[in-house]
Amino acid sequence: MKTLYHFIAGKRVEGTSGRFGDVYNPATGEVSSRAPFASAAEVGQAIAAAKAALPAWSATPPARRVQALFRFRDLLVAHQDEIARLISAEHGKVIADARGEVTRGLEVVEFACGIPQLLKGEFSEQVAGGVDTYSLRQPVGVCAGITPFNFPCMVPLWMFPMAIACGNTFVLKPSEKDPSAAIRVVELAKEAGVPDGVVNLVIGDKVAVDTLLTDPRIAAVSFVGSTAVGRYIHTTGSTNGKRVQALCGAKNHMVVMPDADMEQVTDALIGSAYGAAGERCMAISVAVAVGNQTGDEVIRRLAPRVRGLKVGPATDPDAEMGPIVTRDSLSRIRGYVEAGLREGADLVVDGRDLVMQGHEKGYFIGGCLFDRVSPNMSIYTDEIFGPVLSVVRVGDYESALGLVNEHQYGNGTAIFTHDGDAARDFVSRVQVGMVGVNVPIPVPVAYHSFGGWKQSLFGDLHIYGTDGVRFYTKMKTVTARWPSGIRAGAQFHFKSGAEH
Ligand code: NAD
Repeated sequence: MKTLYHFIAGKRVEGTSGRFGDVYNPATGEVSSRAPFASAAEVGQAIAAAKAALPAWSATPPARRVQALFRFRDLLVAHQDEIARLISAEHGKVIADARGEVTRGLEVVEFACGIPQLLKGEFSEQVAGGVDTYSLRQPVGVCAGITPFNFPCMVPLWMFPMAIACGNTFVLKPSEKDPSAAIRVVELAKEAGVPDGVVNLVIGDKVAVDTLLTDPRIAAVSFVGSTAVGRYIHTTGSTNGKRVQALCGAKNHMVVMPDADMEQVTDALIGSAYGAAGERCMAISVAVAVGNQTGDEVIRRLAPRVRGLKVGPATDPDAEMGPIVTRDSLSRIRGYVEAGLREGADLVVDGRDLVMQGHEKGYFIGGCLFDRVSPNMSIYTDEIFGPVLSVVRVGDYESALGLVNEHQYGNGTAIFTHDGDAARDFVSRVQVGMVGVNVPIPVPVAYHSFGGWKQSLFGDLHIYGTDGVRFYTKMKTVTARWPSGIRAGAQFHFKSGAEH
Protein backbone atom coordinates (compact mmCIF):
# COMPACT_ATOMS: atom_id res chain seq x y z
CA MET A 1 0.00 0.00 0.00
CA LYS A 2 1.13 3.52 -0.81
CA THR A 3 2.26 5.82 1.99
CA LEU A 4 1.77 9.51 1.31
CA TYR A 5 4.22 12.23 2.30
CA HIS A 6 4.57 15.85 3.29
CA PHE A 7 6.14 18.38 0.92
CA ILE A 8 8.55 20.72 2.68
CA ALA A 9 11.15 23.07 1.20
CA GLY A 10 10.60 21.62 -2.28
CA LYS A 11 11.06 17.97 -1.25
CA ARG A 12 8.93 14.99 -0.41
CA VAL A 13 9.33 14.33 3.31
CA GLU A 14 8.30 11.06 4.89
CA GLY A 15 6.25 11.31 8.07
CA THR A 16 8.13 10.49 11.25
CA SER A 17 5.44 10.99 13.90
CA GLY A 18 4.40 7.34 13.77
CA ARG A 19 0.76 8.41 13.46
CA PHE A 20 -1.15 7.65 10.26
CA GLY A 21 -4.69 7.86 8.92
CA ASP A 22 -6.22 5.63 6.26
CA VAL A 23 -7.30 7.12 2.94
CA TYR A 24 -10.16 5.16 1.35
CA ASN A 25 -11.51 4.56 -2.10
CA PRO A 26 -15.14 5.36 -1.26
CA ALA A 27 -16.42 3.38 -4.24
CA THR A 28 -14.99 0.13 -2.85
CA GLY A 29 -14.50 0.82 0.84
CA GLU A 30 -10.88 -0.29 0.50
CA VAL A 31 -7.93 1.57 2.00
CA SER A 32 -5.93 3.03 -0.88
CA SER A 33 -3.09 4.68 1.03
CA ARG A 34 -1.79 5.72 4.42
CA ALA A 35 -1.49 9.41 5.22
CA PRO A 36 1.14 10.45 7.77
CA PHE A 37 -0.15 12.80 10.47
CA ALA A 38 2.43 15.50 11.10
CA SER A 39 3.76 16.11 14.59
CA ALA A 40 4.14 19.66 15.90
CA ALA A 41 7.86 19.42 15.09
CA GLU A 42 7.18 18.44 11.47
CA VAL A 43 4.74 21.33 11.06
CA GLY A 44 7.45 23.51 12.62
CA GLN A 45 9.84 22.40 9.85
CA ALA A 46 7.34 23.45 7.19
CA ILE A 47 6.83 26.82 8.89
CA ALA A 48 10.61 27.28 9.15
CA ALA A 49 10.97 26.53 5.41
CA ALA A 50 8.26 29.09 4.60
CA LYS A 51 9.87 31.66 6.91
CA ALA A 52 13.29 31.12 5.31
CA ALA A 53 11.85 31.56 1.81
CA LEU A 54 9.94 34.72 2.73
CA PRO A 55 12.58 37.48 2.45
CA ALA A 56 13.66 36.62 -1.10
CA TRP A 57 10.15 35.84 -2.34
CA SER A 58 8.51 38.93 -0.91
CA ALA A 59 11.31 41.06 -2.42
CA THR A 60 10.85 39.48 -5.88
CA PRO A 61 9.04 41.91 -8.19
CA PRO A 62 5.37 40.90 -8.52
CA ALA A 63 5.65 40.62 -12.30
CA ARG A 64 8.47 38.09 -11.84
CA ARG A 65 6.57 36.19 -9.13
CA VAL A 66 3.63 35.63 -11.44
CA GLN A 67 5.82 34.24 -14.22
CA ALA A 68 5.88 31.02 -12.17
CA LEU A 69 2.09 31.17 -11.86
CA PHE A 70 1.66 31.44 -15.65
CA ARG A 71 3.71 28.23 -15.98
CA PHE A 72 1.79 26.67 -13.08
CA ARG A 73 -1.47 27.41 -14.88
CA ASP A 74 -0.22 25.64 -18.01
CA LEU A 75 0.91 22.63 -15.98
CA LEU A 76 -2.49 22.40 -14.28
CA VAL A 77 -4.16 22.39 -17.71
CA ALA A 78 -1.76 19.70 -18.95
CA HIS A 79 -2.37 17.58 -15.83
CA GLN A 80 -6.09 18.23 -15.45
CA ASP A 81 -7.15 14.64 -16.17
CA GLU A 82 -4.54 13.20 -13.85
CA ILE A 83 -5.61 15.52 -11.02
CA ALA A 84 -9.29 14.76 -11.69
CA ARG A 85 -8.56 11.04 -11.37
CA LEU A 86 -6.76 11.61 -8.05
CA ILE A 87 -9.76 13.59 -6.76
CA SER A 88 -12.29 10.97 -7.85
CA ALA A 89 -10.28 8.07 -6.44
CA GLU A 90 -10.26 9.51 -2.91
CA HIS A 91 -13.34 11.75 -2.82
CA GLY A 92 -15.64 9.68 -5.03
CA LYS A 93 -17.10 12.47 -7.19
CA VAL A 94 -17.62 11.62 -10.86
CA ILE A 95 -14.78 12.48 -13.26
CA ALA A 96 -16.63 15.27 -15.11
CA ASP A 97 -17.29 16.98 -11.78
CA ALA A 98 -13.67 16.51 -10.68
CA ARG A 99 -12.48 18.09 -13.94
CA GLY A 100 -14.88 20.98 -13.30
CA GLU A 101 -13.38 21.42 -9.85
CA VAL A 102 -9.89 21.73 -11.36
CA THR A 103 -11.22 24.30 -13.85
CA ARG A 104 -12.70 26.47 -11.08
CA GLY A 105 -9.38 26.31 -9.21
CA LEU A 106 -7.50 27.16 -12.40
CA GLU A 107 -9.57 30.30 -12.79
CA VAL A 108 -8.22 31.56 -9.47
CA VAL A 109 -4.65 30.83 -10.64
CA GLU A 110 -5.39 32.84 -13.80
CA PHE A 111 -6.71 35.69 -11.66
CA ALA A 112 -3.58 35.52 -9.48
CA CYS A 113 -1.43 35.92 -12.63
CA GLY A 114 -2.82 39.46 -12.93
CA ILE A 115 -2.19 40.45 -9.32
CA PRO A 116 0.42 43.14 -10.04
CA GLN A 117 -2.52 45.30 -11.16
CA LEU A 118 -4.24 44.87 -7.77
CA LEU A 119 -1.10 45.44 -5.73
CA LYS A 120 -0.91 48.98 -7.04
CA GLY A 121 -1.19 51.47 -4.23
CA GLU A 122 -2.79 54.89 -3.91
CA PHE A 123 -1.03 58.23 -4.13
CA SER A 124 -2.14 61.70 -3.10
CA GLU A 125 0.10 64.51 -4.15
CA GLN A 126 0.47 67.66 -2.02
CA VAL A 127 -1.66 66.64 0.99
CA ALA A 128 0.11 69.58 2.61
CA GLY A 129 2.79 71.97 1.36
CA GLY A 130 5.52 69.77 -0.14
CA VAL A 131 3.95 66.68 1.46
CA ASP A 132 2.72 63.59 -0.43
CA THR A 133 0.89 60.56 0.97
CA TYR A 134 0.86 57.10 -0.53
CA SER A 135 -0.47 53.71 0.53
CA LEU A 136 1.03 50.42 -0.50
CA ARG A 137 0.07 46.82 0.06
CA GLN A 138 2.74 44.50 1.40
CA PRO A 139 2.70 40.75 2.06
CA VAL A 140 1.53 39.68 5.52
CA GLY A 141 4.19 36.97 5.90
CA VAL A 142 3.87 33.21 6.30
CA CYS A 143 0.26 32.16 5.67
CA ALA A 144 -1.45 28.84 6.42
CA GLY A 145 -4.35 27.14 4.65
CA ILE A 146 -6.55 24.43 6.22
CA THR A 147 -8.86 22.85 3.69
CA PRO A 148 -11.87 20.46 3.59
CA PHE A 149 -12.33 17.11 1.89
CA ASN A 150 -15.04 18.16 -0.53
CA PHE A 151 -12.93 20.24 -2.93
CA PRO A 152 -9.48 18.73 -2.42
CA CYS A 153 -7.96 20.62 -5.35
CA MET A 154 -10.09 23.75 -5.84
CA VAL A 155 -10.03 25.06 -2.27
CA PRO A 156 -6.21 24.86 -1.94
CA LEU A 157 -6.13 26.74 -5.28
CA TRP A 158 -8.39 29.43 -3.80
CA MET A 159 -5.65 30.08 -1.28
CA PHE A 160 -1.98 29.57 -2.03
CA PRO A 161 -1.76 31.00 -5.59
CA MET A 162 -3.32 34.23 -4.29
CA ALA A 163 -1.13 34.28 -1.20
CA ILE A 164 2.14 33.71 -3.04
CA ALA A 165 1.29 36.10 -5.87
CA CYS A 166 0.94 38.75 -3.13
CA GLY A 167 4.47 37.89 -1.93
CA ASN A 168 3.69 35.60 1.01
CA THR A 169 4.91 32.07 1.61
CA PHE A 170 2.54 29.28 2.53
CA VAL A 171 1.93 26.10 4.53
CA LEU A 172 -1.05 24.06 3.33
CA LYS A 173 -2.78 21.47 5.52
CA PRO A 174 -5.21 19.67 3.21
CA SER A 175 -7.94 17.32 4.39
CA GLU A 176 -6.43 14.08 5.61
CA LYS A 177 -9.32 12.22 3.94
CA ASP A 178 -8.21 12.95 0.35
CA PRO A 179 -4.84 14.72 0.26
CA SER A 180 -3.36 13.31 -2.99
CA ALA A 181 -4.70 15.99 -5.37
CA ALA A 182 -3.28 18.78 -3.18
CA ILE A 183 0.11 17.04 -3.00
CA ARG A 184 0.22 16.77 -6.80
CA VAL A 185 -0.76 20.40 -7.25
CA VAL A 186 1.95 21.61 -4.88
CA GLU A 187 4.52 19.48 -6.73
CA LEU A 188 3.40 21.09 -9.98
CA ALA A 189 3.95 24.53 -8.44
CA LYS A 190 7.56 23.56 -7.81
CA GLU A 191 7.88 22.25 -11.38
CA ALA A 192 6.55 25.61 -12.56
CA GLY A 193 9.43 27.40 -10.86
CA VAL A 194 7.94 28.43 -7.52
CA PRO A 195 11.09 28.45 -5.34
CA ASP A 196 11.54 25.81 -2.65
CA GLY A 197 9.92 26.73 0.64
CA VAL A 198 7.43 29.16 -0.88
CA VAL A 199 4.65 26.52 -0.81
CA ASN A 200 4.84 23.67 1.70
CA LEU A 201 2.33 20.98 2.56
CA VAL A 202 1.82 18.91 5.69
CA ILE A 203 -0.81 16.23 6.10
CA GLY A 204 -2.32 16.01 9.53
CA ASP A 205 -5.11 16.34 12.03
CA LYS A 206 -5.79 18.61 15.01
CA VAL A 207 -2.15 18.43 16.12
CA ALA A 208 -1.02 20.03 12.85
CA VAL A 209 -3.87 22.56 12.87
CA ASP A 210 -3.19 23.63 16.46
CA THR A 211 0.48 24.15 15.67
CA LEU A 212 -0.42 26.41 12.74
CA LEU A 213 -2.86 28.35 14.93
CA THR A 214 -0.41 29.00 17.74
CA ASP A 215 3.01 29.30 16.09
CA PRO A 216 4.02 32.98 16.19
CA ARG A 217 5.68 32.70 12.77
CA ILE A 218 2.27 32.28 11.07
CA ALA A 219 0.70 35.64 10.23
CA ALA A 220 -2.60 34.63 8.61
CA VAL A 221 -4.83 31.55 8.41
CA SER A 222 -7.39 30.73 5.74
CA PHE A 223 -9.79 27.95 6.66
CA VAL A 224 -12.57 26.25 4.74
CA GLY A 225 -14.59 23.53 6.47
CA SER A 226 -17.37 22.92 8.95
CA THR A 227 -18.80 25.60 11.23
CA ALA A 228 -17.80 23.97 14.53
CA VAL A 229 -14.16 23.68 13.48
CA GLY A 230 -14.19 27.09 11.75
CA ARG A 231 -15.42 28.83 14.89
CA TYR A 232 -12.57 27.21 16.83
CA ILE A 233 -10.02 28.17 14.16
CA HIS A 234 -11.22 31.76 14.15
CA THR A 235 -11.19 32.12 17.93
CA THR A 236 -7.85 30.36 18.47
CA GLY A 237 -6.09 32.00 15.54
CA SER A 238 -7.37 35.48 16.45
CA THR A 239 -6.40 35.02 20.10
CA ASN A 240 -2.92 34.21 18.89
CA GLY A 241 -2.76 37.45 16.95
CA LYS A 242 -3.35 36.09 13.47
CA ARG A 243 -5.52 37.37 10.69
CA VAL A 244 -8.16 34.65 10.13
CA GLN A 245 -10.82 33.97 7.52
CA ALA A 246 -12.93 30.86 8.19
CA LEU A 247 -15.45 29.84 5.54
CA CYS A 248 -17.85 27.34 7.01
CA GLY A 249 -21.01 25.25 6.70
CA ALA A 250 -24.22 25.98 4.86
CA LYS A 251 -27.89 25.26 4.36
CA ASN A 252 -28.72 26.80 1.03
CA HIS A 253 -32.36 27.55 0.25
CA MET A 254 -33.83 27.85 -3.21
CA VAL A 255 -37.07 29.83 -3.22
CA VAL A 256 -39.44 28.65 -5.94
CA MET A 257 -42.04 31.27 -6.81
CA PRO A 258 -45.37 30.19 -8.34
CA ASP A 259 -44.46 31.85 -11.66
CA ALA A 260 -41.09 30.09 -12.01
CA ASP A 261 -40.27 28.01 -15.07
CA MET A 262 -40.83 24.58 -13.51
CA GLU A 263 -38.69 22.72 -16.00
CA GLN A 264 -35.79 25.03 -15.19
CA VAL A 265 -36.51 24.60 -11.47
CA THR A 266 -36.43 20.80 -11.73
CA ASP A 267 -33.15 20.79 -13.66
CA ALA A 268 -31.65 23.25 -11.19
CA LEU A 269 -32.72 21.23 -8.16
CA ILE A 270 -31.57 17.86 -9.43
CA GLY A 271 -28.09 19.19 -10.25
CA SER A 272 -27.60 21.44 -7.24
CA ALA A 273 -29.01 19.12 -4.58
CA TYR A 274 -27.62 15.81 -5.81
CA GLY A 275 -24.48 16.72 -7.79
CA ALA A 276 -21.33 15.60 -5.93
CA ALA A 277 -23.78 13.65 -3.71
CA GLY A 278 -24.72 16.93 -2.02
CA GLU A 279 -21.21 17.28 -0.59
CA ARG A 280 -20.86 20.91 -1.65
CA CYS A 281 -21.04 23.97 0.57
CA MET A 282 -23.10 25.60 -2.20
CA ALA A 283 -25.44 22.61 -2.72
CA ILE A 284 -29.13 23.42 -2.47
CA SER A 285 -30.49 21.43 0.46
CA VAL A 286 -33.83 23.20 0.94
CA ALA A 287 -36.40 24.03 -1.73
CA VAL A 288 -38.91 26.58 -0.43
CA ALA A 289 -42.07 26.23 -2.46
CA VAL A 290 -44.26 29.34 -2.37
CA GLY A 291 -47.83 28.06 -2.45
CA ASN A 292 -49.11 24.51 -2.15
CA GLN A 293 -49.58 24.14 -5.88
CA THR A 294 -45.91 25.03 -6.40
CA GLY A 295 -44.96 22.43 -3.76
CA ASP A 296 -47.06 19.75 -5.50
CA GLU A 297 -45.52 20.60 -8.85
CA VAL A 298 -41.94 20.51 -7.51
CA ILE A 299 -42.52 17.07 -5.98
CA ARG A 300 -44.39 15.73 -9.03
CA ARG A 301 -41.57 16.67 -11.38
CA LEU A 302 -38.61 16.06 -9.10
CA ALA A 303 -39.46 12.68 -7.50
CA PRO A 304 -39.04 10.61 -10.70
CA ARG A 305 -35.80 12.44 -11.51
CA VAL A 306 -34.41 11.63 -8.04
CA ARG A 307 -35.46 7.98 -8.37
CA GLY A 308 -33.79 7.87 -11.78
CA LEU A 309 -30.45 9.35 -10.67
CA LYS A 310 -27.57 7.31 -12.05
CA VAL A 311 -25.48 6.54 -9.00
CA GLY A 312 -22.15 4.82 -9.56
CA PRO A 313 -18.41 4.83 -9.06
CA ALA A 314 -16.50 7.71 -10.61
CA THR A 315 -15.05 5.28 -13.15
CA ASP A 316 -18.54 4.75 -14.64
CA PRO A 317 -18.82 7.38 -17.41
CA ASP A 318 -22.63 7.38 -17.10
CA ALA A 319 -22.69 8.03 -13.35
CA GLU A 320 -24.24 11.33 -12.25
CA MET A 321 -23.53 10.91 -8.56
CA GLY A 322 -20.75 9.03 -6.81
CA PRO A 323 -20.41 7.55 -3.33
CA ILE A 324 -20.12 9.47 -0.03
CA VAL A 325 -16.57 10.21 1.11
CA THR A 326 -16.37 7.99 4.21
CA ARG A 327 -18.34 5.38 6.11
CA ASP A 328 -18.81 7.87 8.98
CA SER A 329 -20.30 10.49 6.67
CA LEU A 330 -22.60 7.86 5.18
CA SER A 331 -23.91 6.87 8.61
CA ARG A 332 -24.37 10.53 9.56
CA ILE A 333 -26.49 11.07 6.42
CA ARG A 334 -28.53 7.91 7.07
CA GLY A 335 -29.01 9.11 10.65
CA TYR A 336 -30.52 12.36 9.39
CA VAL A 337 -32.90 10.54 7.05
CA GLU A 338 -34.09 8.46 10.01
CA ALA A 339 -34.45 11.62 12.13
CA GLY A 340 -36.51 13.26 9.38
CA LEU A 341 -38.89 10.30 9.39
CA ARG A 342 -39.13 10.34 13.20
CA GLU A 343 -39.80 14.08 13.17
CA GLY A 344 -42.74 13.60 10.80
CA ALA A 345 -41.46 14.73 7.39
CA ASP A 346 -42.74 12.92 4.33
CA LEU A 347 -39.94 10.84 2.72
CA VAL A 348 -41.03 10.84 -0.93
CA VAL A 349 -37.87 9.18 -2.26
CA ASP A 350 -35.81 6.93 0.02
CA GLY A 351 -32.32 6.28 -1.32
CA ARG A 352 -31.10 4.31 1.66
CA ASP A 353 -31.60 0.87 0.19
CA LEU A 354 -29.46 1.41 -2.85
CA VAL A 355 -27.06 -1.47 -3.45
CA MET A 356 -24.31 -0.93 -5.98
CA GLN A 357 -23.63 -4.22 -7.75
CA GLY A 358 -19.95 -5.07 -7.65
CA HIS A 359 -19.37 -2.26 -5.12
CA GLU A 360 -21.29 -3.62 -2.14
CA LYS A 361 -18.69 -2.28 0.29
CA GLY A 362 -18.68 1.22 -1.23
CA TYR A 363 -20.28 4.14 0.59
CA PHE A 364 -23.25 4.58 -1.70
CA ILE A 365 -26.66 6.03 -0.98
CA GLY A 366 -29.34 7.05 -3.46
CA GLY A 367 -30.91 10.50 -3.58
CA CYS A 368 -33.45 11.21 -0.82
CA LEU A 369 -36.32 13.68 -1.11
CA PHE A 370 -38.37 14.94 1.82
CA ASP A 371 -41.63 16.87 1.49
CA ARG A 372 -43.51 18.86 4.15
CA VAL A 373 -40.40 19.61 6.17
CA SER A 374 -40.87 22.15 8.92
CA PRO A 375 -38.29 24.58 10.36
CA ASN A 376 -38.01 22.86 13.74
CA MET A 377 -36.81 19.55 12.26
CA SER A 378 -33.12 18.64 12.43
CA ILE A 379 -33.11 17.87 8.70
CA TYR A 380 -33.94 21.55 8.24
CA THR A 381 -31.78 23.18 10.91
CA ASP A 382 -28.58 21.18 10.35
CA GLU A 383 -26.21 20.85 7.44
CA ILE A 384 -26.54 17.20 6.32
CA PHE A 385 -23.89 17.37 3.57
CA GLY A 386 -25.37 14.52 1.57
CA PRO A 387 -27.88 13.90 -1.24
CA VAL A 388 -30.95 14.83 0.82
CA LEU A 389 -33.27 17.62 -0.30
CA SER A 390 -35.99 19.03 1.96
CA VAL A 391 -39.03 20.72 0.47
CA VAL A 392 -40.60 23.29 2.78
CA ARG A 393 -43.98 24.75 1.79
CA VAL A 394 -44.87 28.33 2.68
CA GLY A 395 -47.90 30.48 1.91
CA ASP A 396 -46.25 33.56 0.45
CA TYR A 397 -43.01 35.25 -0.59
CA GLU A 398 -42.51 37.11 2.72
CA SER A 399 -42.59 33.81 4.63
CA ALA A 400 -40.03 32.34 2.22
CA LEU A 401 -37.72 35.31 2.70
CA GLY A 402 -38.19 35.16 6.49
CA LEU A 403 -37.25 31.48 6.51
CA VAL A 404 -33.99 32.12 4.66
CA ASN A 405 -33.15 35.09 6.87
CA GLU A 406 -33.83 33.31 10.14
CA HIS A 407 -31.64 30.31 9.32
CA GLN A 408 -28.32 30.09 11.18
CA TYR A 409 -26.39 29.74 7.91
CA GLY A 410 -26.07 32.33 5.16
CA ASN A 411 -23.73 30.92 2.53
CA GLY A 412 -25.73 30.75 -0.72
CA THR A 413 -29.34 31.06 -1.80
CA ALA A 414 -31.38 31.41 -4.98
CA ILE A 415 -34.76 32.58 -6.15
CA PHE A 416 -36.47 31.16 -9.23
CA THR A 417 -39.07 33.47 -10.71
CA HIS A 418 -40.08 35.52 -13.74
CA ASP A 419 -41.00 38.42 -11.48
CA GLY A 420 -38.30 41.07 -11.57
CA ASP A 421 -39.80 42.92 -8.59
CA ALA A 422 -39.68 39.84 -6.38
CA ALA A 423 -36.16 38.98 -7.52
CA ARG A 424 -34.91 42.51 -6.88
CA ASP A 425 -36.50 42.61 -3.44
CA PHE A 426 -34.98 39.21 -2.62
CA VAL A 427 -31.49 40.30 -3.68
CA SER A 428 -31.78 43.41 -1.56
CA ARG A 429 -33.24 41.97 1.66
CA VAL A 430 -31.88 38.44 1.90
CA GLN A 431 -29.28 37.89 4.65
CA VAL A 432 -26.98 35.64 2.65
CA GLY A 433 -23.54 36.22 1.13
CA MET A 434 -24.04 34.73 -2.36
CA VAL A 435 -27.35 35.04 -4.18
CA GLY A 436 -28.59 33.50 -7.42
CA VAL A 437 -31.47 34.75 -9.54
CA ASN A 438 -32.57 31.75 -11.60
CA VAL A 439 -29.05 30.40 -10.93
CA PRO A 440 -29.02 27.60 -8.35
CA ILE A 441 -25.32 27.59 -7.38
CA PRO A 442 -24.14 31.20 -7.52
CA VAL A 443 -20.43 30.57 -6.93
CA PRO A 444 -18.72 33.86 -7.81
CA VAL A 445 -16.16 33.77 -10.62
CA ALA A 446 -12.50 34.24 -9.67
CA TYR A 447 -12.49 38.04 -10.09
CA HIS A 448 -15.28 38.46 -7.55
CA SER A 449 -14.95 37.04 -4.04
CA PHE A 450 -16.53 34.00 -2.37
CA GLY A 451 -18.01 34.05 1.11
CA GLY A 452 -21.14 33.64 3.20
CA TRP A 453 -22.75 35.49 6.09
CA LYS A 454 -23.86 34.49 9.60
CA GLN A 455 -22.51 31.07 10.74
CA SER A 456 -21.11 30.46 7.24
CA LEU A 457 -18.13 32.78 7.68
CA PHE A 458 -16.05 34.00 10.59
CA GLY A 459 -13.79 36.91 9.74
CA ASP A 460 -14.22 40.04 7.68
CA LEU A 461 -12.93 39.19 4.26
CA HIS A 462 -14.20 36.77 1.65
CA ILE A 463 -11.83 34.49 -0.23
CA TYR A 464 -10.11 35.05 -3.63
CA GLY A 465 -10.86 38.03 -5.92
CA THR A 466 -10.19 41.50 -4.54
CA ASP A 467 -11.01 40.45 -0.96
CA GLY A 468 -8.36 37.75 -1.33
CA VAL A 469 -5.78 40.41 -2.19
CA ARG A 470 -6.84 42.43 0.88
CA PHE A 471 -6.59 39.35 3.09
CA TYR A 472 -3.10 38.41 1.92
CA THR A 473 -1.67 41.95 2.11
CA LYS A 474 -1.44 44.64 4.72
CA MET A 475 -1.61 48.29 3.97
CA LYS A 476 1.15 50.73 4.80
CA THR A 477 0.57 54.47 4.42
CA VAL A 478 3.50 56.80 4.01
CA THR A 479 3.48 60.57 4.44
CA ALA A 480 6.60 62.17 2.96
CA ARG A 481 7.89 65.70 2.76
CA TRP A 482 9.84 66.54 -0.41
CA PRO A 483 11.76 68.62 -1.04
CA SER A 484 13.34 68.74 2.36
CA GLY A 485 14.10 72.44 1.78
CA ILE A 486 10.59 73.41 2.96
CA ARG A 487 10.87 73.92 6.72
CA ALA A 488 7.81 72.91 8.71
CA GLY A 489 9.10 74.18 12.03
CA ALA A 490 8.21 72.57 15.35
CA GLN A 491 4.52 71.60 15.61
CA PHE A 492 2.61 70.65 18.72
CA HIS A 493 -0.89 70.16 17.35
CA PHE A 494 -2.39 68.04 14.53
CA LYS A 495 -2.54 69.99 11.31
CA SER A 496 -4.75 69.40 8.31
CA GLY A 497 -3.56 69.97 4.77
CA ALA A 498 -5.80 73.02 4.56
CA GLU A 499 -3.73 74.80 7.21
CA HIS A 500 -0.52 74.72 5.14
P1 NAD B 1 -13.99 19.72 8.64
O1 NAD B 1 -14.31 20.96 9.39
O2 NAD B 1 -14.22 18.41 9.28
O3 NAD B 1 -12.44 19.73 8.20
C1 NAD B 1 -11.85 20.85 7.59
C2 NAD B 1 -10.37 20.90 7.98
O4 NAD B 1 -10.27 21.08 9.40
C3 NAD B 1 -9.61 19.63 7.64
O5 NAD B 1 -8.36 19.98 7.12
C4 NAD B 1 -9.51 18.90 8.97
O6 NAD B 1 -8.34 18.14 9.09
C5 NAD B 1 -9.50 20.04 9.99
N1 NAD B 1 -10.12 19.65 11.25
C6 NAD B 1 -11.16 18.79 11.43
N2 NAD B 1 -11.47 18.70 12.74
C7 NAD B 1 -10.63 19.52 13.41
C8 NAD B 1 -10.47 19.87 14.77
N3 NAD B 1 -11.25 19.35 15.72
N4 NAD B 1 -9.52 20.76 15.10
C9 NAD B 1 -8.74 21.31 14.17
N5 NAD B 1 -8.83 21.00 12.84
C10 NAD B 1 -9.78 20.13 12.46
O7 NAD B 1 -14.77 19.83 7.24
P2 NAD B 1 -14.91 18.72 6.10
O8 NAD B 1 -15.81 17.63 6.58
O9 NAD B 1 -13.58 18.35 5.57
O10 NAD B 1 -15.64 19.57 4.96
C11 NAD B 1 -17.02 19.73 4.90
C12 NAD B 1 -17.45 21.04 5.51
O11 NAD B 1 -16.78 22.13 4.85
C13 NAD B 1 -18.93 21.33 5.32
O12 NAD B 1 -19.43 21.87 6.51
C14 NAD B 1 -18.98 22.34 4.19
O13 NAD B 1 -20.10 23.17 4.19
C15 NAD B 1 -17.74 23.12 4.48
N6 NAD B 1 -17.27 23.82 3.30
C16 NAD B 1 -17.45 25.17 3.27
C17 NAD B 1 -17.07 25.88 2.16
C18 NAD B 1 -17.26 27.35 2.11
O14 NAD B 1 -16.64 27.98 1.28
N7 NAD B 1 -18.06 27.95 2.96
C19 NAD B 1 -16.49 25.22 1.06
C20 NAD B 1 -16.30 23.84 1.14
C21 NAD B 1 -16.70 23.16 2.27
